[in-house]
Amino acid sequence: MSSKKNADRPKCALCGSKDVSEPRGDERYCPDCWDKKIAVEEIVAKEFALKRYIRAQSAEKYLIYHSTLKRPCGQLIVIDDGYDLFLTLSLYPSFSWDDQAYHLESDPEVRSFAELLVDVIVTEVIEPWGGGKWHLEVHRSATPEPEEWNGEV
Ligand SMILES: [Zn+2]
Repeated sequence: MSSKKNADRPKCALCGSKDVSEPRGDERYCPDCWDKKIAVEEIVAKEFALKRYIRAQSAEKYLIYHSTLKRPCGQLIVIDDGYDLFLTLSLYPSFSWDDQAYHLESDPEVRSFAELLVDVIVTEVIEPWGGGKWHLEVHRSATPEPEEWNGEV
């Protein structure tokens, strides 16, 4: 019984030879291939830069840059209501958000740039803020950059 179970054990999606152990709860990769996948994701994620533009006591605004573009390709607003973090992400059409962020041979999991940016936001904004419960709304902007209005009453 147990030997049959061993033979049926799923093999790593990338190398097809080693047993799966990663990620926990949704095991599809062996440790070596998982490390490789994470390393590739880190390189792709580093192409994004979040620059803080406004810093208030319970709110922040960031402009999102990608190394291939001079102008920001998105913006992020963070509001802390004292309990949870509320994030609003606007993605400008100047960047190909839905494109596959990287390609690994026979990888069953395809991740878009937009998905990878959420990882960057978690690491660079949510975790430094103290983590906890957060909510993210994503808006796709139809215009390449926001319209700005300045005034005083
Ligand atoms: Zn593998």
